[in-house]
Amino acid sequence: MRKIGEVRTQSPVYETEPWGDADQAAFLNAVVVLESSLRPFRLLRKLKRFELELGRLRTRRWGPRVIDLDILDWQGEPLSTSVLTIPHPLMEERGFVLRPLCDVDKEFKLPSGKTVFDILRTGSFDKQVQRVIENW
Ligand code: ATP
Ligand code: CA
Ligand code: CA
Repeated sequence: MRKIGEVRTQSPVYETEPWGDADQAAFLNAVVVLESSLRPFRLLRKLKRFELELGRLRTRRWGPRVIDLDILDWQGEPLSTSVLTIPHPLMEERGFVLRPLCDVDKEFKLPSGKTVFDILRTGSFDKQVQRVIENW
């Protein structure tokens, strides 16, 4: 990430049970706030290149991978195309996104209009995520 901008904030790392395809090992998840001059499509291309450089191979959807870099939000500006949708459409259903997102910005407004803090305080995602690394 530091190759393409300034990392302004980074969440702790959370260990989570696999989502969508349960027959695999646990995942590690984190969220960063990146300040970069890259616009969304260029940013996506860079992230995909990093994934390949780090050894990501094509497997089944939601299957095991060494790294997955998703764009959750870009300056609060929505975008909906066949290759890129922002905000990330599944973020609100995923404790492994909401929990670290809350650490970097608890007032972050989700597509439903609720803040990430409001969604998490219902406690419904608590069991899915476990904080494992504070600083990385
Ligand atoms: P999910 O999207 O459910 O998190 P995934 O990350 O496992 O699944 P990938 O195989 O990594 O899915 O990506 C599939 C495609 O999703 C990418 O090639 C990219 O074009 C597209 N995509 C759409 N919106 C986004 C986004 N906000 N961030 C990253 N990729 C996105
Ligand atoms: Ca993903
Ligand atoms: Ca992805």
